[in-house]
Amino acid sequence: MTKVALVTGGSRGIGAAISIGLKNAGYQVAANYAGNDEAAQKFNVMTGIPVYKWSVADYDACAAGIQQVEADLGPVSVLVNNAGITRDAMFHKMTREQWKEVVDTNLSGAFNMTHPLWVGMRDRKFGRVITISSINGQKGQTGQVNYSASKAGDIGFTKALAQEGARVGITVNVICPGYIATEMVRAMDEKVLNERVIPQIPVGRLGEPEEIARCVVFLASDDAGFITGSTISANGGQYIT
Ligand code: NDP
Repeated sequence: MTKVALVTGGSRGIGAAISIGLKNAGYQVAANYAGNDEAAQKFNVMTGIPVYKWSVADYDACAAGIQQVEADLGPVSVLVNNAGITRDAMFHKMTREQWKEVVDTNLSGAFNMTHPLWVGMRDRKFGRVITISSINGQKGQTGQVNYSASKAGDIGFTKALAQEGARVGITVNVICPGYIATEMVRAMDEKVLNERVIPQIPVGRLGEPEEIARCVVFLASDDAGFITGSTISANGGQYIT
């Protein structure tokens, strides 16, 4: 039977590459998104991958969205927690709203999506939970106390949940991309990108979304059954742990 994979934030950027990579690997893919209907419709027409709109920051919306995906496609066996946002500000200027929005999406979003799917994965004795964290969750980053905290939280989430999933056939892993060429990164000041960011990357370039997608496809595969609780760094050598 074809396995079903659900990718949050799966219609743009890294998530779109992950959705396409999983589809090409033979999965039935559902791509979730938050609000950019135009990009989602374009992605759907281009790829044939069905798109579903809800916010991962809202637990009830996640439970309802998952129910819809499973009614349409069957039980989800691969979950990719990719949806993420930034609301950068120096800490002394950071508002409670900027803190909350980022933590609600990047960290609670992983809980909100994984929790409703967990019992089904346990019952079926198979599951793959793959969360997209960030290099800045590993090393911290000026102006990103909220983002770094949420992404570090994703790593702790993964390490603890992997221990619970191990005996019931569920692997839980996290990928920490470095700087990847998506809208999120291209939104940065070009001068900062060329003069400050790229020189810090030993391979001398930004990563491509497909390079993260290939990590996901591997972690989702049966070949990766012995890998759980792992943090995979895909950052061009920028930060070596
Ligand atoms: P983009 O901004 O290009 O895309 C983000 C995607 O997430 C969009 O599909 C967006 O939906 C969706 N999204 C945002 N908020 C929500 C929400 N509340 N509920 C559901 N979906 C949501 O981001 P990237 O592709 O650059 O980043 C993807 C992930 O990779 C993020 O978690 C990011 O933190 C992480 N990452 C990115 C790096 C990079 O260099 N780009 C580096 C390290 C980590 P919509 O289209 O509707 O807005």
